[in-house]
Amino acid sequence: VLDPGHDGGNGRHPELINRLVDTPLGRRPCDNVGAVTDAGYPEHAFTWDLAQRLARLLTAAGAHVVLTRASDDGVGPCTVDRAEIGNRAAARAGAGARVVALSLHADGGPTSGVGFHVIEPGPVGLNDAIVEPSRRLGTAVRDAFLADTGEPYASYVGVQGLITRTDLGGLNLTTVPKVFVECGNLRNAQDAARLADPASRQGAAQALERGLSDYLANT
Ligand SMILES: [Zn+2]
Repeated sequence: VLDPGHDGGNGRHPELINRLVDTPLGRRPCDNVGAVTDAGYPEHAFTWDLAQRLARLLTAAGAHVVLTRASDDGVGPCTVDRAEIGNRAAARAGAGARVVALSLHADGGPTSGVGFHVIEPGPVGLNDAIVEPSRRLGTAVRDAFLADTGEPYASYVGVQGLITRTDLGGLNLTTVPKVFVECGNLRNAQDAARLADPASRQGAAQALERGLSDYLANT
């Protein structure tokens, strides 16, 4: 399950995206518009392009890929619904299928901060069984991204490219192993240039394909 963060229509519909939706952990905003570079390259376009590249690679490797949105000009889905899309895909795939979910993002961090990081779920009492496999997934994705892209660990968040968060509905509600990858910092000039470069996005897709394959091969 590939989850390209945000959507191209979110910015035109704040009434839908900012609305509070009920979740098991309280009322949360549906989503947000995501980050953008100084030059105007938006996170939703980055995640959509990366998802297309990664989906092609995964399909060629024999995976069945499900995307959480069908275009880059729609609105939503809300983050909690993105988790549900993955859960339904797992139910359809049936027992014995190896199902994994990856949310694709690029961060809006401090302008001085560079590098990538992977966000892993923590125990919140809803889906604790996926915490441990998600940790292994996160490590596999981090290791491949570091080795294959040359991008450093984030300088401004996390420890060695990893952080655990319990405030994200997309992680709190997943019933399949899932992590977020923040592929770089759109607010940093050096990272922004890389993230806006198609060849770099292809390299990122190849690294993520290897990370997912490494995890699935050991599951
Ligand atoms: Zn994002």
